[in-house]
Formats: sequence, structure tokens, C-alpha cells
Amino acid sequence: MKKRVVAYKKLPPALLARLTERFEVSAFDGVNDANRAAFAEAVASAHGLIGASVRMDAALLDPARELEIISTISVGYDTFDVDYLTRRGILLAHTPDVLTETTADTVFALILATARRVVELAELVKAGHWQRSIGPAHFGVDVHHKTLGLIGLGRIGQAVARRANLGFGMNVVYYSRHAVPEAEAAYGARRVELDELYASADFVCVVLPLTAETEQLIDADAFARMRPETIFINGSRGRIVDEAALIQALKSGAIHGAGLDVFEREPLPADSPLLQLPNVVALPHIGSATHETRFAMAEMAVDNLIAGLNGQRPRAVVNPPSRPFAIEGEVR
Ligand code: NAP
Repeated sequence: MKKRVVAYKKLPPALLARLTERFEVSAFDGVNDANRAAFAEAVASAHGLIGASVRMDAALLDPARELEIISTISVGYDTFDVDYLTRRGILLAHTPDVLTETTADTVFALILATARRVVELAELVKAGHWQRSIGPAHFGVDVHHKTLGLIGLGRIGQAVARRANLGFGMNVVYYSRHAVPEAEAAYGARRVELDELYASADFVCVVLPLTAETEQLIDADAFARMRPETIFINGSRGRIVDEAALIQALKSGAIHGAGLDVFEREPLPADSPLLQLPNVVALPHIGSATHETRFAMAEMAVDNLIAGLNGQRPRAVVNPPSRPFAIEGEVR
């Protein structure tokens, strides 16, 4: 009997075919109110799940007694209760590395767009309002040779640090639970406490996972410690920031601007005050959203799922394996 798989995000046809050759697949193009009941029913009898951006709670997963692996098409796994999955013996696999450079590009795009007011001024041109040479009212601020403060210096943080230091001659300071000596050697990154980072960085950039520890880490007190020149960048998860405090800091001039790819609520509600602020560049969570990288992520997630269901070690597992893998080593 073929194992049953639920794909809850649309997969490229060639990758879906790799699954349908091996498994009985129920495919969902996202989960919404119209298909939620059918999705829950399919999950209840599944051996494997693959997809992204759907919160998986115990109410959904408790009935799924045969579930062996969830393969998320993302590096972040804050939509899962990892301890619950581990207790249940369910593997959680994810897609680190393949999206690192693309997401770092997005973060850097936000840094440049916010500092140089790219979106605001491009809209001015499109609206036909460019009628004479641009003067100080429309000048931006420099990025090169400024100080970048990275909160988190993992895979994506280090890729941003490389762009900043080697490409733009920026000084890099960072806050992390552990020192990252290779980034210190390669990019001159200096590890500091948060207070020093807030006080010294021209750009404060969050590249952390969302966890119980990091939720609302950037609060009103944090914004109060930043400088009026600070540009705040968030390319990781919206809930790491107290969004009301961010809005207040932007409105009051406590900080200069913000470049945001992620928000407390997504899609960002159309009435969000953030959309009224000219010093905000808001993107629709596009960190990894290029054709090449989204394909690579889906491919890695499919590899992870096939490996897990074959009793092999997926390339990237979040939770400690609760059972031995039949064959150790690389995925075929
Ligand atoms: P990673 O390699 O695991 O890096 C995470 C970094 O955060 C590490 O340096 C880690 O350092 C640090 N960290 C974790 N908890 C911390 C805490 N409580 N205090 C201080 N530092 C802490 O992950 P990554 O691949 O760079 O991805 C980071 C996050 O970016 C993902 O989790 C995801 O949510 C987000 N992301 C967003 C997009 C997007 O579309 N916008 C795309 C990709 C990823 P230590 O553990 O050593 O302290």
C-alpha cells in the first residue's frame, strides 16, 4: 500500500509528479475556509505533509496517528509546536541554506530602498510630479560606510553582513547568543549587547527566528534606545516586533524609517497605519520569493519528505530524530 501524502501548497508539476509516483497524494492549493474541513480529513490519515504557511496545532494533528514527517517549504518553523511533534515522534524537516542568499538580497533591497527613498521617489516620478531637480526635501541618506546592527547572525544574517561589509564598506555590529568568529574574521563583525547596538547602528536589522524568547523582543523600550537617524529593517518575522510601538516610533520621529518584509498580521491589513507613513517601505513577505529559490525550496522539501518516508535522514531536520534512520547519509 502506498503511503499517503498531503501537499498543502501548490508544487511545481515536476515535483508533484515525483510524489505521485511514490505516494497517494492529496493536493491543496493553500488552505482556506472553503477547503479546511477536507484538508483536516486528509491530514488525519496522512503519513507525510508538505507545504508552508499553515499553522499546525494539536487539534489538527492529534487525529493523524500515522503521521511520520512534516516537510515545511520554509526555513522558519514557527507555525509548529516542535516539542509536540517530537513527543509524537513526527519528524519536522525544513529548507535552510537554499534561500539564504535570496533572502539576504531582499534585506539589502530594503536597506537601500528605505535609505534612498526609492519607492517614494519612484512613485513621485510615476505620478508626474518630477518637474524640477530634486532638492534636500527629497534627499536620502547614505548606506555605504555606515554601521549595520544585525540582531541575529545566522545563515541570513551572515549573508547580509557579507554584502554590507565587502560590498558597501559598512561596519557591522551584531547581537547573538553565541559569538560567530568566522563573521568577525571575514567581515570585521563585532559582537555587542543590544543597548550598544541600538545606540550605534544606523541600520538595525532583525534576522532572528520567531520563538517564545524573541517574540516582541523589539518593543517600545528598544525603539526608545535607537537614534532619530536609525532605519529599522525586519526581514524575519513580524511578531518579533511590537508593531504598535514601531508605528509610534516612526510617527514620533524616534526613528527615521523602516523597511519591512513581514508583519504581525499577514497579509498586512489595508488600514494599517504603516501604509500611511512615507518613511516605510512595506513588502508582501517576499524574502525568498524568486522563481529559482522557490523552486529550490520546494525541491529540497520534496527530497526531505521522500527521504523521511523511506526511513532515511532528510537533509535538514528540525527536531531530534526520535527513531533511527534505516540508512544514514545523503538523500538520493
Ligand atoms: P539561522 O541560521 O538559524 O539564524 C538565526 C540566528 O538567530 C542565529 O544567529 C541564532 O544564534 C540567533 N538567535 C536565535 N534565537 C536567538 C535569541 N533568542 N537571541 C539572540 N539570537 C538568537 O536562521 P536563518 O536561516 O538565518 O533564518 C532566520 C529567520 O529568518 C528564519 O527563522 C525565518 O523566520 C526568517 N526568514 C524570513 C524570510 C522571509 O521571507 N522574509 C525568508 C527566510 C527566513 P544563536 O542560536 O547562536 O544564538
